Amino acid sequence: MALNPKDLEEILGQYPAKVKRNRKKHILIRDSARGRQEIEANTRTIPGIITNRGCAFAGCKGVVLGPLKDVVHIVHGPIGCAYYSWLTRRNKAKAADPKKNFLAYCVSTDLQESDIVFGGEKKLARLIDEVVEIFQPNAITISATCPVGLIGDDIQMVAKKAQEKHGISIIAFSCEGYRGVSQSAGHHIANNGLMEHVIGLGDREEPPHEYTVNILGEYNIGGDSWEVHRILHEIGYHVQAVMTGDGSFVDLKDAHVARLNLVQCHRSINYIADMLEKKYGTPWLKVNFIGIRATCESLRHMALYFGDEKLMRRTEQVIARELARIEPLLEPYRKICQGKTAFCFVGGSRGHHYQGLYEELGIKTVLAGYEFAHRDDYEGRDVLPEIKPDADSKNIPDLHVLPDERRYRLKIPRERMEELKGKIPLSYYKGMNADMADGSIIVDDLNHYETEEFIRLLRPDIFSSGIKDKYIPHKMGIPSKQLHNYDYSGPYAGFNGAVNFARDVAMSFVIPAWNYVVPPWRQGPLLEGVVEEAK
Ligand code: SF4
Repeated sequence: MALNPKDLEEILGQYPAKVKRNRKKHILIRDSARGRQEIEANTRTIPGIITNRGCAFAGCKGVVLGPLKDVVHIVHGPIGCAYYSWLTRRNKAKAADPKKNFLAYCVSTDLQESDIVFGGEKKLARLIDEVVEIFQPNAITISATCPVGLIGDDIQMVAKKAQEKHGISIIAFSCEGYRGVSQSAGHHIANNGLMEHVIGLGDREEPPHEYTVNILGEYNIGGDSWEVHRILHEIGYHVQAVMTGDGSFVDLKDAHVARLNLVQCHRSINYIADMLEKKYGTPWLKVNFIGIRATCESLRHMALYFGDEKLMRRTEQVIARELARIEPLLEPYRKICQGKTAFCFVGGSRGHHYQGLYEELGIKTVLAGYEFAHRDDYEGRDVLPEIKPDADSKNIPDLHVLPDERRYRLKIPRERMEELKGKIPLSYYKGMNADMADGSIIVDDLNHYETEEFIRLLRPDIFSSGIKDKYIPHKMGIPSKQLHNYDYSGPYAGFNGAVNFARDVAMSFVIPAWNYVVPPWRQGPLLEGVVEEAK
């Protein structure tokens, strides 16, 4: 069922006038006849509205830094931030040396009242000493939480001194939770830190292999990046670094040698993608390994970029083999899913990525949106010059890089680059809106009130979002699929991932429990009969 502007007006009509004016700008009914429709995004959340958003610390440590396995990540703050982000994102990792995989640990300065009063720098320095002694990691990151900025702890100085003392990279990230308006600020802060202090630190001058690529913005949730790795490896690519799922400090140091950067999650990593292009001359390609069509298209675009006949042939061989293998597996699930509808509200990239996969199963997305995306993720990168920084974005520093005098190299000739830009999304992302059907709803920073109202109006067959809103649709008798943690399943990327996803989604439709949501006495009379008059 499509939503008409009157229904939308009714939903917004419940808000006070000021809130209504604000929320109206964050909701669109897709109408392709109107071309690029502007949406407001990446602005401050309305207090008390029950947003799904998190903070800059979550975006920095939780998303971008946390998956680096050979690094100990120190959370500088009271214990809550470290505890609640401890092993809750399913960024998996395997290390050749198990002693160099620290992802299972939760390391925090656990600030107390006296530290807030007298400062926590000494405690942080002592913790770094302990971490080096116990774990001997390849590097250490320090992530600031809310009080750290307020009490004025100079974590950059502590990190610098500790680095000199211990001789390993110790990098501080000022990602206090109140910076910016969402996780997005933390991504930017993490990108800046990794670019400034890690990438390029390695000694490699040349790529180890002809087809060396980096995968950017892939966090190996439920094993996604391993599946992507498998496919790329079979075609003949060499993956230098993954940022950052199953990634390591050691690999990241040499990320500058890759000949192409693949960008999966545009929102969280586009800063590094841009900076790598400016500093080392490495173009980036927007890829999507979620969904069969999108995976095949991404692989073909990669082959076209390298322009090698043998590579193109091998790409087609792998695609043909994989399709022949998975198509029969998908068939029964497609039958169950056909004709259904979905909500697809996820962080900053999956709201777009999963729509293709849903479509391949016969499921139409009727509402999609993002918690913390920016306008370019909705409308495409063409809008970048139009986006004006506001007070909240101005306090996230932009890192300006210059071409590296020694290492800057054009990976492909300029003319070829221009020619390819007309064929493949090279250093470009078109955004989510362009792929949405007319009449579908696009919502930025969806809140709990709107979630319930849109569910009531649109009655989707499946609701895909996160843990905080998972059980709202359940109580309304609608299945849900978490697209942050995959409900502890996965991988969902690549060819094998598509089968796993189809199985999980189909299963959620046929669970017998849905038949018992409405008690029998609400569905019809329990007893039927006639009262006969006594004779
Ligand atoms: S908002 Fe502040 S206190 Fe809350 S998790 Fe983020 S850093 Fe920690």
